[in-house]
Amino acid sequence: MIDIINHICGAITFIFIGGMIVRSFPINHTLTQKILFGLLAGIFGSVLMLFSINLSEDFLVDFRHYAILIAALYGGVIPAVIATIVLCLNKILFFAGSFQSVLISLISMSFVAILASFITRLRISTIQKWIYMLIFSALINNLVYGSFYKWTPEVFELIFKYWLLTAISGTLVLLCTTYIYNSNKRFNELKHQSKTDFLTGLYNVRQFDEALNASIEIAIKNHEKLSLLMIDIDYFKKINDTYGHPAGDEVLKQLGTLLKKWTRSEDIVSRNGGEEFTVLMPNCQHDIAIKVAERIRVAVENHHFILPEGEQIRFTTSIGVSTFLETTQSPDLFLKQADDAVYEAKRTGRNKVWGQTH
Ligand code: GH3
Ligand code: MG
Ligand code: MG
Repeated sequence: MIDIINHICGAITFIFIGGMIVRSFPINHTLTQKILFGLLAGIFGSVLMLFSINLSEDFLVDFRHYAILIAALYGGVIPAVIATIVLCLNKILFFAGSFQSVLISLISMSFVAILASFITRLRISTIQKWIYMLIFSALINNLVYGSFYKWTPEVFELIFKYWLLTAISGTLVLLCTTYIYNSNKRFNELKHQSKTDFLTGLYNVRQFDEALNASIEIAIKNHEKLSLLMIDIDYFKKINDTYGHPAGDEVLKQLGTLLKKWTRSEDIVSRNGGEEFTVLMPNCQHDIAIKVAERIRVAVENHHFILPEGEQIRFTTSIGVSTFLETTQSPDLFLKQADDAVYEAKRTGRNKVWGQTH
């Protein structure tokens, strides 16, 4: 009994630790991630081999194949294959025993890997996949082992116990993995949402603040100029009043796309609130930043924004520009200068870029 508790507790502990390890990075996007996930699953299965369960005097079982099933379920075919290779190597190198036991183990693990890779591609729910995987892998194990041993009543009793254990441990493992998978997914979604503006998908003001501080530090360290564009739509309130708030939102989205298009990939484009956007431009001196701002101003002025009802409208922007280590040496004044420049652009007629040259 203590073996069983040890085995299940070992599995659950490892699943929780594994969940913590993979929390901050996806496990099935790139080949490297898939390989790493497969290796982690392989280690998991190897740990399970250490905590085997004594079902009878000469009949040891373990649920190492859960590692292959979990790898297939959450990572796909590649992690499942990698986990299987790790488990097979582990068996050969450290748990060899008799030739027959190595053979049984390698055959059953290979069959389980093929089966899990097939089931994971079916268009059914995760729970259904897990149940099928459990049933078929238990059957595979029984058949492979059974074909090497005699089908005596004792063997049938052992098989009955094995299925009972599979049902209990399989349910617990499924509960734990789905809990960890869902909470990791939610954690990453919230992390992403806390950094992005829901409307435009650009950085939000919180992320802008972080990026601003980090960029200032880099600029000081590398003696580079850091420029900031602050962009404010002219008479945006009128657009909302005339066409409605949803139309205003649509305009903001399209302006976000336009700003991404007219800036470099290393520039940090954010919506800092309302109809105010910023572009933080690392390693960019003031006269270049003014040229970029002018290009954006003209691009917006000439762009036809399409509203949800199909109408097309045009509007203009006022853009303030400041450059850290050029127009100011003070990190505190950097943001304020761009803000003041927008104010000046507005005050002197709008649809303008305002920088230090004025
Ligand atoms: P100015 O040329 O002086 O900048 O005039 P303005 O009308 O653009 O400026 P003001 O700051 O008076 O108005 C900004 C408006 O932006 C007010 C608010 O209703 C609207 N607004 C703020 N956030 C959102 C948003 O998320 N969606 C929409 N549709 N409107 C927003
Ligand atoms: Mg404004
Ligand atoms: Mg405005």
